[in-house]
Amino acid sequence: MADTKFVVVGAGPVGSLAALYAAKRGHQVEVYELRPDLRDPSIVPLNFTKSINLALSERGLYAMKQSGESQLVDHVMSATIPMRGRMIHGQSPNGSLYEHSQNYGVDDQAINAIDRGSLNSRLLDILDSLPNVKLFFNHKLTGADFKTNKAWFEARDKDFAANGRPREIEITFDLMIGADGAHSAVRYHLMKFTRMDYQQEYIDTLWCEFHLPPRPVDDNEKDPNAKFRISPNHLHIWPGKDFMFIAIPSENGSFTCTLFIPSAEISELERDPSSLPAFFDKHFPGVTALIPGPDLIKSFETNPHLPLISLKCKPYHHGSSGVIVGDAAHAMVPFYGQGMNAGMEDVRILFSILDKHTNLDESNNPDGELIHSAETSAFQRSVALAEYSAVRAEDAYAINNLALQNYVEMRSSVLSRRYRLRKYLEEFMSVHFPSFGWQTKYSRVSFGNEGYADVIRKSDRQGQILMQSFVALVSSPVVLTALVLMYKRRGSLLSFVRGLFSWN
Ligand code: FAD
Repeated sequence: MADTKFVVVGAGPVGSLAALYAAKRGHQVEVYELRPDLRDPSIVPLNFTKSINLALSERGLYAMKQSGESQLVDHVMSATIPMRGRMIHGQSPNGSLYEHSQNYGVDDQAINAIDRGSLNSRLLDILDSLPNVKLFFNHKLTGADFKTNKAWFEARDKDFAANGRPREIEITFDLMIGADGAHSAVRYHLMKFTRMDYQQEYIDTLWCEFHLPPRPVDDNEKDPNAKFRISPNHLHIWPGKDFMFIAIPSENGSFTCTLFIPSAEISELERDPSSLPAFFDKHFPGVTALIPGPDLIKSFETNPHLPLISLKCKPYHHGSSGVIVGDAAHAMVPFYGQGMNAGMEDVRILFSILDKHTNLDESNNPDGELIHSAETSAFQRSVALAEYSAVRAEDAYAINNLALQNYVEMRSSVLSRRYRLRKYLEEFMSVHFPSFGWQTKYSRVSFGNEGYADVIRKSDRQGQILMQSFVALVSSPVVLTALVLMYKRRGSLLSFVRGLFSWN
């Protein structure tokens, strides 16, 4: 094993976890990352292209648990804030502001807000401590040949600083794992060797980040939540039909906020940023009381306005020498909070399949070492990679689609009565009849590890049963009479029925 060389391209969260899995299996691991080491305090990111805060949920946590690094999850979790549900912000017709909390799951189930940089740094620290891992920052993949197992990188290291010219280096590998993000160079080179189906779509929405600062508190303050201006245990949403503004908590009491907005509207605001506070007052009431207008304008002018890409491809591998994971394989829009979680799950599934195919019977060998020839391992790896592509593509396509659908849910469906009715009924069933295995789609995605495609199948079946049973129930004469009597007293029956069966 020690002479099998795994090269990981990209030291983001998914690449770092893949390197850890490979290292724990005794491989020789080299990680090449385009950017400087994010742990270097002298490096200020010029133009960040990834949101600062992320929602980490069960799939990401489970993948980290299975890495064999016992302290990893405890360490990561110690820097997270649990978000138990959405807090929907709005304004009633009489002008008063309201907040409406919708739990994500039952009991204490929560997704976890985490700082992307601290999660990534923790993974890199662990890799640094392992003797069989070498990290190369400022190395950009420029070419890869998956037949001869060679790759080329442009190194912007000390020589570059001295003479201003990047150095080209050539390396060899047994397996290259491409975790180099949505615009993956590994995927680009892999496509020349494998008949990869590929589709990408930019949705007509851009995103821009804003900062909601902590509330100043004095040293005698006893309440640990006093520094948060809004509830720390929610993902806050200001839905706006075509727009959406969200806020995710940070440990220091601040919130990282993101505006999602179609390109035509953002162009209008770019032409006249001074109109931003009025735009917020109209579409996201209450925000300017938390983030003053001038600060909104400053963030809007300073922070990049970035596109959202959704991409699907398959297969993910070539022979025994190359495979892509994470955003490189299935970048998705961020509305299910699953991009990184799904990428980490890729790593867990990839290595479980590799283990299944490459672990020979250790009992034949008195030293417990795995002995097999290079050809045998390459053959086993190629079988494993083919299986990985076959099983993972369906799930990756499924979460990609769910993420697109969830944009509609987050910015407008959360307000509809039909949505809330189904959610209420599903939650009622999951709390009172857990033995039926009833769960909301969100719970299955965020608090479980079953395949995304299975989640969709089960959830669609469950939705049909639920709505048919509900319609059958309310159309039974006894229940109908009771409802008519109830709602006649409280207002128009017609508007009640219309409310139940129409989207907002
Ligand atoms: P990346 O994080 O993109 O890392 C790729 C790495 O490869 C980078 O470090 C890059 O520098 C390097 N690289 C690129 N090209 C090369 C090259 N040629 N040579 C060498 N190195 C290279 N996901 C969640 O799970 N939860 C969330 O709440 C969530 N929120 C999001 C909010 C927003 C606004 C966005 C845009 C995304 C969000 N995501 C979320 C998705 C998440 O950010 C990505 O899925 C995740 O970062 C993917 O990790 P990765 O390691 O595959 O790729």
